[in-house]
Amino acid sequence: MENPTTYDIAWLPGDGIGPEVTREALRVLDAVASAHDFAFTAEEYLMGGAALDETGTPFPNETRAACQESDAVLLGAVGGPKWDDNTGEKRPESGLLALRKALGVYANLRPVLVPETLASASPLRPDRVGGTDILFVRELTGGIYFGTPEGRTDDGARSTMVYSEAEIERIAHVAFQRAQRRHGHVTSVDKANVLEVSELWREVVTRVSEEQYPDVELRHLYVDNAAMQVVRDPQQFDVVLTGNLFGDILSDLAAALPGSLGLLPSASVGGTVGLFEPVHGSAPDIAGQDVANPIGTILSAALLLDELGEHEAADAVRHAVDATLEAGFRTADLAVGDEEAVSTSTFGREVATRAADPVPQNAPTP
Ligand code: NAD
Repeated sequence: MENPTTYDIAWLPGDGIGPEVTREALRVLDAVASAHDFAFTAEEYLMGGAALDETGTPFPNETRAACQESDAVLLGAVGGPKWDDNTGEKRPESGLLALRKALGVYANLRPVLVPETLASASPLRPDRVGGTDILFVRELTGGIYFGTPEGRTDDGARSTMVYSEAEIERIAHVAFQRAQRRHGHVTSVDKANVLEVSELWREVVTRVSEEQYPDVELRHLYVDNAAMQVVRDPQQFDVVLTGNLFGDILSDLAAALPGSLGLLPSASVGGTVGLFEPVHGSAPDIAGQDVANPIGTILSAALLLDELGEHEAADAVRHAVDATLEAGFRTADLAVGDEEAVSTSTFGREVATRAADPVPQNAPTP
């Protein structure tokens, strides 16, 4: 028998709850790998505050080299009160920017899912929000955060929103290709009624759509309307394509929909190696107690599998998370009323058990 494909994962647990939640994601990967005929290695490397304490830098060269040579990077979270007074390159979070740069990632993927089982935990009305499944595709390396000229002038300050056609095209491809694997709909967000750079954004996205993705439905929304629609009727969205600034704000707005930060995964892709991490931080208030919600990290591992082309395994992981919630398991952040909360590790084990099962034929696409 042929040896199974083996993927090398650089595992960066980081600080606070990072080690706890990434451990559960690896447990689930382990279960799903053996059921889908591939294997992986997960070598642990220092990152963030843990790396600062040991080596004096939040992103040591050894970690950089290992990430660049890996097939994918799984990160927990970095930072915490111990390093809050650090400045500049001694801040744990500065290591994150260096990591993204080292990998050359330019597309940030942020799925926002509100399973029907958790709709009552949302700050919005359950009937409005249950079943929401949005994928934000945000451009990560251009736009107003990096445009020049910028800085103070004699009598004020300026920041410049800049996008080249090539930058818009490559992120548009990411959005259309994701939509092809989902529900075939892209909403591109801009401010083309005011900003010239948004006029170009709209032109280029429309051209890419017409020339290469006639099977995907495209619509354009102004960012102010998009913000209102995300709150009013989030179920209308499939893939939302945005530049850096608008994506930053809209994806955080949408992150409030599920009612817990612990549920949200993310991926940064497009470079040599992808980076997969939950949206939340290191949650020092609950670290070390085995109570954190591992779902965001487990779903980040599903995005990792998608990126490696292991789509069936990725769907199995998403399905296992849904099935575990449907079976009534809740971590403390999700338990309402008299629901009993289970630990991080119990939840992870429950998902791992279900991830090894075949996905039922009639299961809805998660
Ligand atoms: P946070 O996301 O760590 O926590 C905010 C709140 O959400 C806390 O009450 C926390 O207990 C809760 N929470 C977060 N994740 C959870 C989970 N998986 N399960 C259950 N509850 C969860 O944000 P913060 O408190 O503003 O930041 C804490 C530290 O994390 C800071 O040092 C910050 O700089 C850092 N941070 C790191 C990242 C990252 O590594 N990508 C992102 C954001 C913040």
